[in-house]
Amino acid sequence: MTLIDGKAVSEKLRGELKADVAAFIEKTGIKPGLAVVLVGDDPASKVYVRNKRRGCRECGMYSEVIELPADTTQAALLQLILDLNTRTDIHGILVQEPTPRQIDNTAVINAIDPRKDVDAFHPMNVGRIMTGNFDFLPCTPAGVMELLDAYNIPIAGKECVVVGRSNIVGKPQAMLLLHRHGTVTICHSKTVGLAEVTRRADILVAAVGKPGLITGDMVKEGAAVIDVGMNRIIGNDGREHLTGDVDFESVSQKAAYLTPVPGGVGPMTITMLLRNTLTAAKKSL
Ligand code: NDP
Repeated sequence: MTLIDGKAVSEKLRGELKADVAAFIEKTGIKPGLAVVLVGDDPASKVYVRNKRRGCRECGMYSEVIELPADTTQAALLQLILDLNTRTDIHGILVQEPTPRQIDNTAVINAIDPRKDVDAFHPMNVGRIMTGNFDFLPCTPAGVMELLDAYNIPIAGKECVVVGRSNIVGKPQAMLLLHRHGTVTICHSKTVGLAEVTRRADILVAAVGKPGLITGDMVKEGAAVIDVGMNRIIGNDGREHLTGDVDFESVSQKAAYLTPVPGGVGPMTITMLLRNTLTAAKKSL
């Protein structure tokens, strides 16, 4: 079994990105800029935001983190987004989820200028992903595709099963595999006979949020298994650990390729965000 090293692939891509950013700044005098808006003080979100800021800086981009109190009103957040939409030094905008209850995430996403929507959640970008005519891809599914390509895992004509149908991972993941000519099945909580479907998969992507849902008996011999899940559990040592949706022990006996958690898909997500920010800066010209 080959372990897919998302950290190594991500570092290589970030090295290339850093060179691309430097060349872009040299040519245009414009530094790509990303604004990350954090509402409230969710500890996990703070870590993600910190990593995004660090990633930006390491790649030579400008980053601005705007921290707002948990009781920020919808109107105030929308006004901030409108201001960011007009700023010429900001090419990418994202609002870190989850947001507090009073915030309507759909309205927030719809307010972001689609040209600055580096998460690719705006309906215009979602539609463009459907048609295959896109500038941005959602970061996690795009990262999964990069991992498959980095390990030369063929997609065309293969049985691809995506478990999970969220708008940010499962659905766009299925679409990207379809664009690359996979024969794609999407599973969800109402799927009957999940194991029968997953056992057909040459490429199995688990994006559910249930630790250890995918076990060895659900996996075809020689499959490529991509574990998107990021679940925080308390281990036997009483400390918090990150674990995926795949039971690593049993699945590693069957799969030909497998991503670990952490160190698989996770590092790729921010790398794709940085790439989208550079794309947005290029498109702004
Ligand atoms: P959501 O909760 O939005 O979606 C989960 C999906 O799993 C739903 O479609 C749900 O079905 C389906 N599901 C739930 N239970 C089952 C089951 N027993 N069998 C089959 N399908 C089931 O989660 P996200 O898509 O946002 O995230 C999924 C996981 O990926 C999480 O662990 C999250 O933390 C992680 N993640 C990791 C990222 C990374 O960078 N590595 C980035 C984003 C997410 P239904 O639609 O019927 O409810």
